[in-house]
Amino acid sequence: MFSLMAKLLLNRQVKLEEGRLELMGIRDSFTPTVTYVEILRILLQSNSQHLLYDSAKKAGFDWFQRMSKLYPGLKQSEALKWGVDLIALSGWGIPTVDNFNPKEKKTIFLLKNSPVAKIFGSSKVAVDHLFRGLSAGGGSYILDANLDCVETHCVAKGDSICRFLVAPKEKLGLSKDSLKFEFGI
Ligand SMILES: [Zn+2]
Repeated sequence: MFSLMAKLLLNRQVKLEEGRLELMGIRDSFTPTVTYVEILRILLQSNSQHLLYDSAKKAGFDWFQRMSKLYPGLKQSEALKWGVDLIALSGWGIPTVDNFNPKEKKTIFLLKNSPVAKIFGSSKVAVDHLFRGLSAGGGSYILDANLDCVETHCVAKGDSICRFLVAPKEKLGLSKDSLKFEFGI
């Protein structure tokens, strides 16, 4: 993760000016994690949590598109490593790739120390909608397909780690109710 920061600094891909933070030409801003957690609590009241997922999916896709324009020829595995490092650098926890199957367009990520799960507290449902959105968007760009993501295990539910499956929607093995919860469809 820190080697990524060094690379970005060397290539002048981090810009910090008064009132402006840019990473790889994309405007960014530090936001207290509690902001996302409070947005999530409000969205959950109307079963609209997928809106956080949808917006993060777009952001994840845009990030990788930008990255591949800046570094043409970036291999799938390198892009994946960069994505994981960027998430860690951004403070969303410690992600690792548990399984990468480009042929089946499936990836499994694990996330340790999720700040969202920690701040949200105990929950009956998984809460890392932002991370699963970023994973779906990044995965879609890297594997050149419209992929989605579901959090199969979450620390907020009492699991020991947060676990995410990225795959084509029909291969996520979700029930009708789960599809509604995860994607609003
Ligand atoms: Zn989680």
